Amino acid sequence: MSKGLAVGIDLGTTTSLASVGMPDGQPRLLRDTQGHGIIPSVVSILPDGRILVGQRAKERLVLDPENTFFSTKRFIGRDMRREENSWAAAAYPFRIHAGENGVPTIRAHGRDYTLTDVGGMILAYLKKVAEQATGLPVPQAVITVPANFNDVQRTTTRQAGERAGFEVLRVVNEPTAAALAYGLERSGENERIAVYDFGGGTFDMTILELRGQVYEVLATAGNTLLGGDDFDKRIFDRMAKAFQAQTGLHPRENGEFHQRMFLAAERIKCQLSDWLVAGFTERGVEIAGRRVDFQFEMSREQFNEACGDLVDMSFDVCDEALRLADCTLTSIDQIILVGGTTRVPLLRERVTKYFLRPPLDKLQPDTVVSLGAAIQAFSLVGGPTMWPVPAQVAAGIRAETPTPALGVPAAVPETSLPVEEPAREGPLQAVPLQAPAPPRGTRDLRMTLEPPRGLGLPAPHPGSPAGGARMPLPPSLSVGSMPALQAEAMQSILSGRAAAPRPAPVLIDVTPMTLGIQTVGGNVEAIIRRNSQVPVEKSRLFATTSDDQTTVLIRVCQGEGKKVDENVVLGEMTLEDLPHGPRGSVSVKVTFELDTDGIFSATAVDINTGRAQRIRLTLFGG
Ligand code: AMP
Repeated sequence: MSKGLAVGIDLGTTTSLASVGMPDGQPRLLRDTQGHGIIPSVVSILPDGRILVGQRAKERLVLDPENTFFSTKRFIGRDMRREENSWAAAAYPFRIHAGENGVPTIRAHGRDYTLTDVGGMILAYLKKVAEQATGLPVPQAVITVPANFNDVQRTTTRQAGERAGFEVLRVVNEPTAAALAYGLERSGENERIAVYDFGGGTFDMTILELRGQVYEVLATAGNTLLGGDDFDKRIFDRMAKAFQAQTGLHPRENGEFHQRMFLAAERIKCQLSDWLVAGFTERGVEIAGRRVDFQFEMSREQFNEACGDLVDMSFDVCDEALRLADCTLTSIDQIILVGGTTRVPLLRERVTKYFLRPPLDKLQPDTVVSLGAAIQAFSLVGGPTMWPVPAQVAAGIRAETPTPALGVPAAVPETSLPVEEPAREGPLQAVPLQAPAPPRGTRDLRMTLEPPRGLGLPAPHPGSPAGGARMPLPPSLSVGSMPALQAEAMQSILSGRAAAPRPAPVLIDVTPMTLGIQTVGGNVEAIIRRNSQVPVEKSRLFATTSDDQTTVLIRVCQGEGKKVDENVVLGEMTLEDLPHGPRGSVSVKVTFELDTDGIFSATAVDINTGRAQRIRLTLFGG
C-alpha cells in the first residue's frame, strides 16, 4: 500500500486550489468539509501565534487588517529595498518591509514572517484540506507559478511548498498546466493554443504547440503589473471620489471603513460580471467625529469606461507573444482563458474581437490550472496506482496488474507551521467535482471533461471482472467508512475504469526573461536568452578588468534591458582565489543553468587552471 497521494496546487494571488488525479484519469477539485474548493489566499495571524487561512482569515480582513495578509503573491521575490516595491506595499493595510537582502517581510504581533512562510501557511492549509478530503496522507505536490515568474519567485514558491511539508515534485507554469487540462479534451491533432491568463495580480499570454503528448511552449510574454486588483482600484477611486463629494472627507480617515470600501470595490467588479448595476451602501459611518451615510452605484457601462484601457493593455502583451512565437492570429486554433478576471464580459468581448474567434468555454478559468497540475502530479507518481489499494483488496487483484513503486520519500517533513485545521463540520466527506453554480445570467461554464483519449481498460484477467463489472469489496472493507473520493477511486480501480498507463505528458517550457550578468559601465551581457527552452545550460567567457585581480563580483540580472538599472538584479556571487596576472589575462567561464522548473544555478571555471569555483548566489528579495 502506498504512503499517499500527489496533488496539483494552483497557489494564486487571490485564491488557491488543490486537485487530485483519479484512477479514471480525470482530475477532481478537492473541497473542504463545507464544500469550498476555491480557498482565499488570505492568512490571518492571531495574537497567540495561531494561523488562520482561507475563508476564516478573509473574515478578519476588516476586524484585524494589520495582521491579515492578502495578495502577498504580488510581492514574492521582490526586492523591497527598491522604491517601486515599497511604494506598492504602502497601499496595503498591513506592513510589508525589507528583511535581509531585501526579502519581503510581514510583521504580525511583533513577529516577522517572510513570504515563503506565508506561502507555506497557505500550502499547509491546502495539504490539510486534501488530506481531509481524500482520507490519505498527501506528501507530494506539483505547484504552479505564473509563466513570467523569475528565478527568485520560483525558488521562493518551491521553498514555501517544502515549508508546508510537501515534497515538491515540480514547479509548473500556469499556462502549461491549463494546456494539460485542455489536453484531456482535445482531438489528438496538432494544435496551436493561446493561453490568455488574467489573474488578480498579473497578466500572461502564452502560445503552445500541442503534438500528441508533447506540450511545447513557443513563447510567453507578460505584464507583472497588470491584474484584477487594478480594476478594483479603479472602482475604489470612483467610490472614494463619490464619498468625498458626498461628505467632504476621505474614507482613509476611518481605517475599517476604508478597508470595507476596498472589499466592496472587488465585490462590485465581480457582480458587474453578471449584473448591469451594482452598488454599496453604508449608514452611520463614524468618521472624523461625524456620522455619515454613503451610497454608491456603478453600471456595467461605467465600469467598462473606467477599466477598458486595462483590458486593452493585455493585447499589447498578446502582440508581443505572437511576435516572439512567430505566429499569426489565424494560426491559433484555440484560446483558453485562465484567471478570475477573464469573467469580465468586456474582456471576453475584446478577446473574441482580437483573436477573431470566441475562447473555449468548456474549461473553468478558476479551476483549470489546478486540474492541469493534478494531471502532471498524477503522471509523475505512477498514474492510477497512486491511489493505494488496501491489502485485502490487493490480494484479490491478480498479479498481472502492474503496480509501479511510488516515489514517496521515506520521511517527508511535516510542517511546523501552526496552521489551524480546516473546519470539520459533520462527518468527514469529500464532494466529487462539482463546479459552483454559475452566477445568474451567465452561461454555464462547468467543466465537462470527457475521458481522455487513448485510455483503455486494463486487460481483463481470469477471475476478475471484465469491462466495468464491479468487484465487490471484501466484507471487512466498507466503502461507507472511506472518504467519498477514496471510495470513488477504489470503485474505479476495481471496476476496471482505472486508466491504463499512457505516456506521461512531455512539457517543453521556455524561460520568460533573459538572464545575464553586469559588465563594465553598468551594461548587461546576456547568457541565457529569453524564450530559450528549459532545461538549458549556456556559458560565456569573461576576463579580469584590472591587474592582479583575484576576485570578481558577478551580478546576475533578469530582464530585457541593456543596462543593469533596467533589469531585476536577482543576486550576486563572488569568485575568489583567481591567479595573479595582468588585466585580461585571467579568463573565467561562467555557466548558467536553468532546470525544468526554471530554477537557476551557476558555476564558474578559471580556464587557466581548470579549477572550478564554488559560487554562492545571494538572492535579492528571496
Ligand atoms: P486569480 O488570480 O486567477 O485567482 O484571479 C483573481 C482575480 O479574479 C481577482 O482580481 C478577482 O477579483 C477576479 N475575479 C474573480 N471572480 C470574478 C468575476 N466574477 N468577475 C470579475 N473578476 C473576478
